[in-house]
Amino acid sequence: MKILVVEDEQLLANALRLFLESRGFTVDTVYDGKSAVEYAGLGIYDLVILDIMLPGLDGYQVTRQLRAARNGVPILMLTARSDVADRIEGLDAGADYYLPKPFDTRELLACVNALLRRQGEQVEEIAFGNTVLDLAACTLQCGEHMVRLSAREFEVMRLLMQTQGRNLPKETLLARVWGYDSNAVENHVEVYVGFLRKKLRSIGSDIQIKAVRRLGYHLEVAEHAETAAD
Ligand code: CA
Repeated sequence: MKILVVEDEQLLANALRLFLESRGFTVDTVYDGKSAVEYAGLGIYDLVILDIMLPGLDGYQVTRQLRAARNGVPILMLTARSDVADRIEGLDAGADYYLPKPFDTRELLACVNALLRRQGEQVEEIAFGNTVLDLAACTLQCGEHMVRLSAREFEVMRLLMQTQGRNLPKETLLARVWGYDSNAVENHVEVYVGFLRKKLRSIGSDIQIKAVRRLGYHLEVAEHAETAAD
């Protein structure tokens, strides 16, 4: 599990990193709002821990920019400002949870685990349109019809379905399915999306995998499954 910590107080940022690493997380740290948007925009993090008072963009602006870019990464906001109006502004901007400073590390850990769980670690299937992805069997099902997915097809489909219609950059798919170290290129993503489109059609699914130039892929539900080819 990979966490991005955004906190301009470097001592606190380091303490958070060390604490989370000691609990088995991989942690990157950035110290200002602009870097936060860039890093979180890579789509490789399972969670962002975000301070509100930051140089450049503040935590609210960072959250709004990420959500406007259809980035659904769970965001845990940290702040010394603990009145209700601030909390509401944070949640309105699209944060998932709000933890006032100072906090106990056990409380932080409980929040982190809750948000990561909520992201779907224990879910057994994900539905979109008329189609269900079975996470244990690695199959796509639509009514009576079912098709088995290869390991890579499954990973690509899972990420697309988890984002529930929001955009998923091609680089994110590449990094999360093939890993940064592999020799895979963006073409691999296109090939696997092609396989998946074929399999979706074969079971009469109304899911369409839409490609948006330079932005990546997202899912849409077709009006008529029969005309789903694109
Ligand atoms: Ca701060």
